[in-house]
Amino acid sequence: MERRASSMRERMSSISRESVKAFLRRNLFVLFTIAAVALGVILGFALRPHNLSLREIKYFAFPGELLMRMLQMLVLPLIVSSLVTGISALDSKASSKMGMRAVVYYMVTTLTAVFIGIVMVMIIRPGKGSRDSPMTSGNIEPVQAADAFLDLIRNMFPPNLVEACFKQYKTVYKKIVHTRNVTVALNLTDSLNGSINTTVEETVPVSGASGGVNALGLVVFSMCFGLVIGNMKQQGQALRDFFDCLNEAIMRLVAIIIWYAPVGILFLIAGKIVEMKDLAQVGGQLGMYTVTVIVGLLIHGLFVLPLLYFLVTRKNPYSFIGGLLQALITALGTSSSSATLPITFRCLEENNHVDKRVTRFVLPVGATINMDGTALYEAVAAIFIAQVNNMDLNFGQILTISITATAASIGAAGIPQAGLVTMVIVLTSVGLPTDDITLIIAVDWFLDRLRTTTNVLGDSLGAGIVEHLSRGELQSQDAELGNSVIEENEKPYQLICQENDSLKHRNSETTM
Ligand code: ASP
Repeated sequence: MERRASSMRERMSSISRESVKAFLRRNLFVLFTIAAVALGVILGFALRPHNLSLREIKYFAFPGELLMRMLQMLVLPLIVSSLVTGISALDSKASSKMGMRAVVYYMVTTLTAVFIGIVMVMIIRPGKGSRDSPMTSGNIEPVQAADAFLDLIRNMFPPNLVEACFKQYKTVYKKIVHTRNVTVALNLTDSLNGSINTTVEETVPVSGASGGVNALGLVVFSMCFGLVIGNMKQQGQALRDFFDCLNEAIMRLVAIIIWYAPVGILFLIAGKIVEMKDLAQVGGQLGMYTVTVIVGLLIHGLFVLPLLYFLVTRKNPYSFIGGLLQALITALGTSSSSATLPITFRCLEENNHVDKRVTRFVLPVGATINMDGTALYEAVAAIFIAQVNNMDLNFGQILTISITATAASIGAAGIPQAGLVTMVIVLTSVGLPTDDITLIIAVDWFLDRLRTTTNVLGDSLGAGIVEHLSRGELQSQDAELGNSVIEENEKPYQLICQENDSLKHRNSETTM
């Protein structure tokens, strides 16, 4: 009896030890990453009293900078190879259906995010009260909403693909003085007219450039390219294999870099905490503005998006989000949804088992154009600036803000603080002073991390939703592929049989 009980106890303890080990093995990276965040925060606050110089902070944050560089290194080949293989693996009907679903999801969630932002900023009214003085002054380049919109379309079609890997088109303004022939009334009573030459100064938009990958251009090119080689059937096989292999190789590099990610995240977070200004000073309007953005992002990320996922898939959204933890923490650490893209891919494919044909198609597009967090923040910031200036916005202006905030989030690159730059479009569209962006710069680095995390969450849940909605097409494609695999395998066999037959025939002829 005694012996049986002790063997039972031993077995139980070995089972629980096994399950703990299995749990640790499965969630090793996530645990490392969470520990890295905690350590980063502790280290950052421990170093703050030492008043490190800016040079020392730069050296201290170096391991974090390395992680950013490693991830960014993979983004370009990852976007191109995944889109080309993702789209070429689907027939054009399936890819257009999947594309439609993704676009509808992006539009619905972005507009919902903007709506939540507007409601929150209207309820909390963070801009009321006496005006804070700007904590930092910055140089904000003005840009007209129409020009920004045209730039977005121009960037979709880069004239030079190599240049698109490191440069984007950006309108700049130039003052040009020219003479113009104007008709003037010489004599009012006889209505006698004459013309004179006057010099006029005009600000004209001219072509300029800004650094960084033109992700939108590469996405459009890769999608079209994938579609074409998908339709080329057997002729396109070599290119399909090439991009497939490239994608596989990049994902293997991701698997190596992921080991370094916790170290990088630790130093990214610690470096930022050491560097930041005293947050206790951020009170008043700016504090309330920060709270408004955070509440909006939490409502959107923790309730609205999961609810949408549940309504569509009838699966538990929070266990899906659990599989994404590492990507979300990386987004928090890097402030860049495109640098997080490699990790997002890995989390979705390895942890959540989302079909590769969906992730390869939906994720690069999502990381480039779908930014719920950014859209929400842009709407809140614009209305906050209006409140600070005691400007009452009418319904038309609020509608304009919703539309331009959506466009600005599409145009924002997935890099740190890109949303701050595209804010100018929203402000100019309703005649708000662009210089007032300096009011919110002080907290932007922090809000950027939160909105990037929301952006990544939105893209990932979108991949889950699109996969669920496209399961019919994916299954029929699988069935077709299954058939074609059999055909492909049978072909050599039939050929061998034919060859054997003809050989036998020839042999019998020679022996006769
Ligand atoms: N940093 C954000 C991102 O990468 C963009 C933004 O500034 O809102 O998604």
